[in-house]
Amino acid sequence: MNYNFRKKNKIVKYVVIHYTGMKSLKLAYQKLSDKNSNVSIHYLVSRNGKIFNLICPRLKAWHAGVSMWKNNININDYSIGIELENNGHYHGYSKFTQKQYFSLKKLINFLKNNYYIPDQNFIFHSDISPNRKKDPGEKFFINKIGINRFKNLKKSKNLYNINDLLNFYGFHKYYIKYHKKYCIMAVKRSLNYKKISPNISKKFLNNFYNLLFT
Ligand SMILES: [Zn+2]
Repeated sequence: MNYNFRKKNKIVKYVVIHYTGMKSLKLAYQKLSDKNSNVSIHYLVSRNGKIFNLICPRLKAWHAGVSMWKNNININDYSIGIELENNGHYHGYSKFTQKQYFSLKKLINFLKNNYYIPDQNFIFHSDISPNRKKDPGEKFFINKIGINRFKNLKKSKNLYNINDLLNFYGFHKYYIKYHKKYCIMAVKRSLNYKKISPNISKKFLNNFYNLLFT
């Protein structure tokens, strides 16, 4: 297993949700527990709802890679990682199962109570590494696990442009500046769009605004 001790000044404040992106649970488990793979994860949830705890969340696992969120860089330092078994976009992306959502909800409630993580800090790999990652993707419905991640801003009369909205969503300013089209695609995944393109239509802007504001 790959892990480090967490630094005292870097407390856990996020949970990052992933998919395995591999053809089988066995292959994913092997990779995640192989010291030479350079990756690791705290929890893995199989399609039949089994939860594997590979690394203690008090330790730092290697799941996020190059990643930024809000003003934080290297999100492994601040997060607990959960992998959901799914073949992913390159090997036959499928719906997550009801058993998976059920188990994930239990796991998330446990983490919420033990680490005091607010709903808006349950984030996706595609949010923190938008130019590299698509997971968990547009078939993942966060409302199915009882998390109200979005809609925590109050509506105002101000008009916001796309950069403002991307900033409110939480993307790091580096990604907004250099990888805006990937940020837009990540938002579309959060909105569960079926077609993911970097186009900014009026409808998308409207959906995006309504995702963030109550
Ligand atoms: Zn991932």
